[in-house]
Amino acid sequence: MLNNKIQDALNAQINAEFWSAYLYLSMAMHFEQEGLTGIANWFKIQFKEEQAHAEIFINYVNQRGGRVTLKAIDAVPTQWESPLDAFKATLAHEEKVTAMINEIYAITEEVHDYATRDRLKWFVSEQVEEEETARGLIDKFTMIGDNNMGLYMLDQELGSRVYNAPSALAE
Ligand code: MG
Repeated sequence: MLNNKIQDALNAQINAEFWSAYLYLSMAMHFEQEGLTGIANWFKIQFKEEQAHAEIFINYVNQRGGRVTLKAIDAVPTQWESPLDAFKATLAHEEKVTAMINEIYAITEEVHDYATRDRLKWFVSEQVEEEETARGLIDKFTMIGDNNMGLYMLDQELGSRVYNAPSALAE
C-alpha cells in the first residue's frame, strides 16, 4: 500500500505532467498557426512525451495498489513572442518539474518508500535530458537571432523529430 503523503505527491505529479502536455500542445498550436510547422511538430512530440510521463506515474500508482485521482488541468498560456521565448518558457517549466520530482524523491526517503524512489530515478535522468535539450535549443535560436534563413533551417530540423515512447512506459 502506498503511503498517503507519497500518493498525494504522485497524484499532484500526474496533474503536473498533464499540465505540461497541455502547455506543449498549446505551443504546437501557436507555431502551427505561425507557419512554423517544424517547431509545431517538435512541441507535438513533447506533448505526447508528457502524456506518457503521466501514464508512467498512473501505471505505478496502480501497481502499488494506490488510487489515482485526476484533478482539473489549469489553463495554459496560448501565445509566445518568438520561438526563443517559447523555448525559454520550456526550460523554466522543466526546471520547476525537476524541483517537483526532487521533492517527491526527498519524501520517499523520509518515509522509507524505496520502491517509489527507484521509480523516480528514471524521471531524475529524464529531467536532465529535458533541461539539456531546452538549453540547446535556446542556444540555437539565440544564435540565429532574426535571421530568416536560420529560422527556416532550424524549423526544418525540428520537423524531423519523431516520437519514441519512453522506455519506462513498458516497465
Ligand atoms: Mg514530464
